[in-house]
Amino acid sequence: MRYWELRRAVVEAFRFMEERGLNWGHSGNVSVRLPGGLYLISPSGLRKSRMGPEDLVVIDGEGRVVEGSRPPSSEYRLHLAVYRARGDVNAVIHAHPLYASVLAALRKPILPIVEEVTVYLGGPVEVAAYAPPGSGELAENAVRALGDRCAVLLANHGALTCGSDLEEALDALVYLERAAFVYFHASLLGGAQPVPPEALELERRMYLARRRLL
Ligand code: 13P
Ligand code: ZN
Repeated sequence: MRYWELRRAVVEAFRFMEERGLNWGHSGNVSVRLPGGLYLISPSGLRKSRMGPEDLVVIDGEGRVVEGSRPPSSEYRLHLAVYRARGDVNAVIHAHPLYASVLAALRKPILPIVEEVTVYLGGPVEVAAYAPPGSGELAENAVRALGDRCAVLLANHGALTCGSDLEEALDALVYLERAAFVYFHASLLGGAQPVPPEALELERRMYLARRRLL
């Protein structure tokens, strides 16, 4: 994808999220890995679904702005920590989806109660230990809880998903929210049955093969 197309895709991603209740208002941030150790990231504090492609910022691996006039997302440490830990990841989304945020507030991991949790997210969605928004500690906790998977909950805050491109990271966010929705409602009706262990093994291999982590 060409550079300005990529910028437009990031802007589109925020509109997509807001229309589907996956993120609201000033919250959330999106980044994409660029060639040469640089990263395109959303600016801090704007109403995200109303910003334009020119509002995005390019930062280096230390979070220094190399292009753009706005301050980068306050969560740039979180994004950079994921890129540092995961060579297979080229896009990161941090959002405040409704049902995933319920589970993040309960500090309850999402167990594999629907197939997508393992096939597309890589396994149970763990909860990163609480740390203040924007902190280096949040970045460390999130990377630890994310492991080799594509989604993690941030305690009392929201969620992070990632993928080999922006579309995959957005898909992961949709799968995560669907799993959280099912988990939440199933809990109200007595609790979901888990996916059987032999299916989990097969699904985990499918996930690793797709991400070329096998
Ligand atoms: P930014 O606007 O700085 O990206 O922050 C939004 C957010 O969700 C903080 O956790
Ligand atoms: Zn946030």
